[in-house]
Amino acid sequence: MQWETVIGLEVHVQLATRSKIFSGASTAFGAEPNTQACAVDLGLPGVLPVLNEQAVAMAVQFGLAVHAEIPEVSIFDRKNYFYPDLPKGYQTSQMYHPIVGAGEVEITLDDDTTKRIRIHHAHLEEDAGKSLHEDFQGMTGIDLNRAGTPLLEIVSEPDMRSAKEAAAYLKAIHSIVTYLGISDGNMAEGSMRCDVNVSVRPKGQEAFGTRAEIKNVNSFRFVERAIAFEVERQIELIEDGGKVVQETRLFDPERDETRSMRTKEEANDYRYFPCPDLLPVVLDQAYLEHLRSQLPELPADKRARFQNELGLSAYDANVLSASREMAEFFEEVQRVCGDAKQAANWVQGELSGALNRENLSIQNSPVSAQQLGELIRRVLDDTINGKAAKQVFQALWNGQGENADAVIEAKGLKQVTDTGAIEAMIDQVIAESPAQVAQYRDSEPEKRGKMIGYFVGQVMKASRGTANPQQVNGVLKEKLDALL
Ligand code: ADP
Ligand code: MG
Repeated sequence: MQWETVIGLEVHVQLATRSKIFSGASTAFGAEPNTQACAVDLGLPGVLPVLNEQAVAMAVQFGLAVHAEIPEVSIFDRKNYFYPDLPKGYQTSQMYHPIVGAGEVEITLDDDTTKRIRIHHAHLEEDAGKSLHEDFQGMTGIDLNRAGTPLLEIVSEPDMRSAKEAAAYLKAIHSIVTYLGISDGNMAEGSMRCDVNVSVRPKGQEAFGTRAEIKNVNSFRFVERAIAFEVERQIELIEDGGKVVQETRLFDPERDETRSMRTKEEANDYRYFPCPDLLPVVLDQAYLEHLRSQLPELPADKRARFQNELGLSAYDANVLSASREMAEFFEEVQRVCGDAKQAANWVQGELSGALNRENLSIQNSPVSAQQLGELIRRVLDDTINGKAAKQVFQALWNGQGENADAVIEAKGLKQVTDTGAIEAMIDQVIAESPAQVAQYRDSEPEKRGKMIGYFVGQVMKASRGTANPQQVNGVLKEKLDALL
């Protein structure tokens, strides 16, 4: 039996507002426990929430970025449930009239093909506090700092068919929200986490199978691993004559498995009703147009422009547009050196290699885009050869010189293209290598091409890497062949 996997994601994105969604308390990460929750966040009697306009603007910008319908009216509902880190006894969310309607996101797969994933809707809600299970000798500590932090929950259609597609979708969402600057996207700090809905069905069958929902997965890798485990579990269960039950599961990265948490509750268990303390949100066309005019160029548009206007391959365009910082760095390098292909090669090669080795992000690169662009320009105008360029890069990386020209000057790396000088070096190498010359002369003509490498190496060494390699090759061949 052939099985097909079906996946839908509910992604929670913490919006980068400075204060909470319904109060003026700070949202900063890492403060002392219980110092950043105010009476509104705790839902104490008599308080009134006030909607944070910035959270609305951020949600709408996301909607515009994924080409979603933005309904004129959206409404906040109370979702009632008990949880130790939810002192209000309900979470203010949007159940029936979310702020963002149906949209879609383009994902890019490993073979550079793309696929569209539909978004069902996205809604605003508040986060709850955090339960802390360590350091309390068998008891649980509650930190309410996170209570009331604005979240945008983005709900996809069940359009993904593999763990890879799910990870690519999550990456696409991550890249959109960070391009927009509406979230820091920091998954390790919980700024983005997702619930993964997984089911399987026999290949060719139209109806979906029963799904399990894996809660709060907080890394791209965990999403893939949780799905891989879950798919295998469900197939085995069905093939052994069992049935998948709709339930909530937890992924345990340590044991690489998912475990049942509770059976799924239905929407009516929550007794949703419109929040009487908050007015419906009404957005007019002018407001939407204002927000639309402030959208930056988005990842998919950048990717397309890198390919169509700058002539990059799909692969390069994809890698270089993945993060806004990477894209902006690359574009600056390209602007300074005037050659997109070279800029792409250097950013993905030498620069990314060095960044990875020292575990630095591109924002903290010791070599600036301006410096790298100028360095590449000196390769393009033949001031230095490729080998010297790597030395210049290393010097700039180590802070030994202000710019490429200064390093080239200080280290004497200027490429020697003067034919006379090159000829003199070649003559000397030939004079000092009688055995190799004899070997060259006595070998079969088709083998000589390979043997010339030795002489090229000696001349490059004599020039301390600065001779123009093409010229050295050409002149050497002439001189050696003249000795035959
Ligand atoms: P609920 O309201 O119970 O959470 P929804 O219908 O809103 O359920 O779906 C929640 C998520 O589950 C969505 O992302 C959706 O795409 C996904 N989903 C729904 N049915 C399936 C299924 N059979 N297999 C996989 N994912 C599914
Ligand atoms: Mg759900």
